[in-house]
Amino acid sequence: MTDATVSLESKKEFLGHPRGLVICFLTEMWERFSYYGMRALLIFYLTQHFLFSDEIAAGIYGAYISLVYITPVIGGIVADRYLGPAKAVVLGAILLVAGHMGMAIEGSQAVEVMVQGETFVQRDPFYLQVFYLSLALIIMGVGFLKANISTMVGSLYERTDPRRDGAFTLFYMGINLGSFFGAIVCGFLLQYYGFSFGFGAAGIGMLFGLLVFLRGQHYFGDLAKPKYPELLTQQVLPGINREWLIYGLTLIGVLVCWQLMQHRAVVGGLLGASLVVMTMAVVTYAFTKCEPHDRNRMLVCLVLMSYQIIFWSLFEQTGSSLNLMTDRNVDREILGLTIPAAAFQSVNAFFIITLAPLFNMMWLYLARRGWEPSTPMKFALSLIQLGLGFLFLVYGASLASDPTQVAVIWIVMLYLLHTTGELCISPVGLSMTTKLSVPRVVGMMMGCWFLASAAGNYVSGTIAAMTGSDTVGGEVADPAAALASYMEVYSTAGWYSIGAGVAAILLVPLLKHFMHGIK
Ligand code: GLN
Repeated sequence: MTDATVSLESKKEFLGHPRGLVICFLTEMWERFSYYGMRALLIFYLTQHFLFSDEIAAGIYGAYISLVYITPVIGGIVADRYLGPAKAVVLGAILLVAGHMGMAIEGSQAVEVMVQGETFVQRDPFYLQVFYLSLALIIMGVGFLKANISTMVGSLYERTDPRRDGAFTLFYMGINLGSFFGAIVCGFLLQYYGFSFGFGAAGIGMLFGLLVFLRGQHYFGDLAKPKYPELLTQQVLPGINREWLIYGLTLIGVLVCWQLMQHRAVVGGLLGASLVVMTMAVVTYAFTKCEPHDRNRMLVCLVLMSYQIIFWSLFEQTGSSLNLMTDRNVDREILGLTIPAAAFQSVNAFFIITLAPLFNMMWLYLARRGWEPSTPMKFALSLIQLGLGFLFLVYGASLASDPTQVAVIWIVMLYLLHTTGELCISPVGLSMTTKLSVPRVVGMMMGCWFLASAAGNYVSGTIAAMTGSDTVGGEVADPAAALASYMEVYSTAGWYSIGAGVAAILLVPLLKHFMHGIK
């Protein structure tokens, strides 16, 4: 392909957006299909197939969901410096297919054995190791794919293009379309055919994602290629060029994650250390390598990223405490049908899919009139909506005369407000990262974005633990006490989040000033 055709390819449009957006949308849709599909089964695989206790299962689950958002830092940096986003996405997708397929190797189920009056669980060590290795492949795969497919969306637009936030909102719809169907398809397959089929479906979904990307990557032209291709072909070890060295080191990374999943106490420390190192790296880069305007934008970007720690730490109660609270305290009978608590997990994805186009239109409508809120304002609004969601539920719960009968509308209201909040921070933040970063390090910055998200996910576990109630055989002993404990935490969470949102509004003028014309 000549240079002229390359640039023409990246300019071809579909519904007013570059065609590359469709490729990012579909690739990420399949990636999230596999990620959320697998994640929906994971806790059951741990507790029902491997017979881990709830506590250990939660530890494995928590370490996994933190690590998947830590590795994008590595994937982002390697793409910025050497591979370019396209090769990084392909590498990530191959690792993901291998990881999800590995998960489908189920092996024999663990058994409880009695030895001298004590119960032990016997797990086949081979299959347990296959399982940890599969998780490690997924962790590294997400690391290479997630940040880079997101920067590829940004690369399709000029820094000030008004379509950029809308493009990320559409991209975000792809994410949630994948997550919605992933949980349903894999959950359904688990119910009727078992774990292998559920996990296998996630692997097949990811294979579709890989194929879509391989077929469509030409739409990006030069945008996704390595910036310095000569670096990749350079001989660095006898008979090995840098590109192959990177692939070799990636496999070592897989082995490291394999061990980390088995030494989980290290993950919290690793997260803290990564946050410190990355903040220092970005600040140093901004002060030494950037001209003043870019420096300020990078620093604003860093400040805004940190809002995510608050956001996800409360938002991610969805899968943990809110899930249990729905099970224990919400009246889930609708038209004579009892809706399983787990089904409420897809409410958020459903709202994203239905509301994202409206948000897209709203941002464009407001932008045309010059009324679109700035990125820092959208972030502040997201924290306020998050807080209001909790307060709605707390209010609704106070109306219930029976602690097991909180009306379903209140939990739906909470998810609705959490979703509108998410639409003001998550896709907007991806877009912001691509426009406030210096293009040379956009992959690294996107990695930092997900790192902050990892921190939020991690803290969410600690908050969920605060809501814990006494259980007997998995059932709460006292539903009224359980409800009171949830509401105490949620009410504090709600007010803190609103407080943080108000403080964030006060910061808007300052942050806007240092964004130097970028909104
Ligand atoms: N739900 C979004 C996704 O899966 C956001 C994840 C996050 O940043 N924590 O991409």
